Amino acid sequence: MYSMVSVLGVNFANLTMNEVFLEATTYLHDQQPHVIITAGPEFVMHLKVNEKLQHIVQRADFITPDGNGIVMASRWYGKPLKERVTGVELTPLLLRYAEYHHLRVYVLGASEEASTLAIANILRAYPGLMVKGRNGYFTKDQEHAVVEDIRAFAPHLLLVGLGQPRQEVFIDQYREKLAVPLAIGVGGTIDILAGTVKRSPQFFQQVKMEWLYRLLKEPRRFRRQLVLPVFAWQAYWDARRRSTT
Ligand code: UDP
Repeated sequence: MYSMVSVLGVNFANLTMNEVFLEATTYLHDQQPHVIITAGPEFVMHLKVNEKLQHIVQRADFITPDGNGIVMASRWYGKPLKERVTGVELTPLLLRYAEYHHLRVYVLGASEEASTLAIANILRAYPGLMVKGRNGYFTKDQEHAVVEDIRAFAPHLLLVGLGQPRQEVFIDQYREKLAVPLAIGVGGTIDILAGTVKRSPQFFQQVKMEWLYRLLKEPRRFRRQLVLPVFAWQAYWDARRRSTT
């Protein structure tokens, strides 16, 4: 078992990347559908105002801290999370595992170009892997066909990159119908696998300022990133309030 750390009312599993990976591998061999959510500050802020999302999060097996902001905030609460656990870092570990154990992986999301490139790169890196994918630009009317395509492939692992929170809503809505042992929303990971978006250089990762690199590369993210200082402010005062009551 593992302990939980609550940040702004969201319960994060206090697990290392390796521990999450081990937990995930047990899910992959289970008959029941499991869901792991990776949540950064933006997602936590979404949750505060979105009741539907709050129910979705409660149904997930656990939530990992996908961002240094969450790990930093956990220290203010006096319960430091062990480390950041991102979908982009978890994905290659699971792909390697799936290749070794002859498990099927379905990769849903990103543009047609990025999806095709990502599948080609995955097959190059993990030649024995049984993998299928499709782009993430479909209408509500096409959703049924997308779900049927996934069901027909019967994957053990479903990676969904439709952006947050759409990917979490999709996974939750079709959880029973898809009956995939493990589904994870992985955000922009498919673009990174495709090589169409680069991860920030080591320097930015080490000084924990990946947000700055992303902002410089994609200035349109500015509006979205405004939520980061708001998150930090709210988490700081919430932690102080709890420590004095
Ligand atoms: N995306 C998609 N369908 C959509 C909207 C977005 O497949 O209708 C993809 C987008 O191409 C990208 C991924 O979702 O590959 C994640 O987008 P974003 O970086 O906005 O999400 P985040 O990782 O920050 O949640």
